[in-house]
Amino acid sequence: MQGKNYLMIPGPTAVPPSVLEAISRPMFGHRTEEFAAMYKRIVEKLQVVFQTKNDIFVLTQTGTGGMETAIANTVSPGDKVLALVTGNFGERFAKLARIYGGEVDELKFEWGSCVDVKQVEEKLSANRYKVVLATQNETSTGVLNDIEAIGKLVAKTPALLLVDGVSGVGGIEIKVDQWNVDILVTASQKAMMLPPGLAMVSVSPKAWAVIDKNTSPRFYFSLPACKGKIDSWNTPYTPGVSLYVGLDAALEIMMNEGMDNVYARHKLLAEATRAAARALGLKLLAEDAWASPVVTGIYSPEGMGADDIRKIAKKEFAVTFAGGQGKLKGKAFRIAHMGFADRMDVIIAIGALEMALKKAGHAMELGTGLKAAQEVLMGGSK
Ligand SMILES: *Cc1c(COP(=O)(O)O)cnc(C)c1O
Repeated sequence: MQGKNYLMIPGPTAVPPSVLEAISRPMFGHRTEEFAAMYKRIVEKLQVVFQTKNDIFVLTQTGTGGMETAIANTVSPGDKVLALVTGNFGERFAKLARIYGGEVDELKFEWGSCVDVKQVEEKLSANRYKVVLATQNETSTGVLNDIEAIGKLVAKTPALLLVDGVSGVGGIEIKVDQWNVDILVTASQKAMMLPPGLAMVSVSPKAWAVIDKNTSPRFYFSLPACKGKIDSWNTPYTPGVSLYVGLDAALEIMMNEGMDNVYARHKLLAEATRAAARALGLKLLAEDAWASPVVTGIYSPEGMGADDIRKIAKKEFAVTFAGGQGKLKGKAFRIAHMGFADRMDVIIAIGALEMALKKAGHAMELGTGLKAAQEVLMGGSK
């Protein structure tokens, strides 16, 4: 049926009706009291989501722009950088640091595994780094990294901890202050329930000391330029006004649900999705211990292309799953359950997956995955 689409990819994700309404309101000027009051409101709510008292800036950039902002302001040519790489986005963070002249040490982990904190400890004791890069939720594999443990180690050194929380923040708890995250980056179109176009970053006092002395060129990506405007709750250049209005509305939804409930909901959806995949005889990319609450990576059955399954799901049932990235292309697919996602979205995803698998020739009984998911969603099984 025309117009019926079920978006199950890790960004852009579905946008709630009240947010769609908010972003389609008439335009207003950004050098106004109205905008300043809204920006202040947004930052106060983001401080709850980030669990921080640090400065927070909303930038008219995508997630990668936020990552570049973090790098451009902290990495000067010749600086030693430790990049913790668990997949595609970890690689991107490392690449960015290299482009800004950083001498990057990449600590790489198997795709589907998480950062081994012991190895980080060894690296940190043998070297002196200026910046450490980590990915909270590695979207390409559906892996959650232990930012708390990494933060504890980095805090004992002069290094800054920069965290890419683009797909996790808003769906997975992060405690910026308690976990010693110096710069946290997230973006609008993943768990934050907005269209693409905004990045949000927090900056610790420890980071400001480095930023002020940094020698890399920066203009659009300048954090000091943002700081110069935040006292009057404004931005150095024209902000994406409509998206800010939408962010205000999206954060309101989160505040009303309560962040603990938001995180519990994501965990439940992930658990149901994983139970369904297992019941269907599919192999999961990540172990339970470090599985992402917001996106689930699943290998396609032996001898069956992941993209063929995805094509059937899209063409026949209007359900969009994400493909495998990098070395997982064609071998795995991903089901997102982040942001504006609830229990029945998992049922739709698994229902479509079963039918697509059946059509592609996977031997299984229809309803097997659905039953497993339903049991988790009803609290009946673990
Ligand atoms: C999506 C994503 C990005 C990139 O964000 P863009 O908005 O596409 O620039 C970076 N890191 C992670 C972990 C992501 O999931």
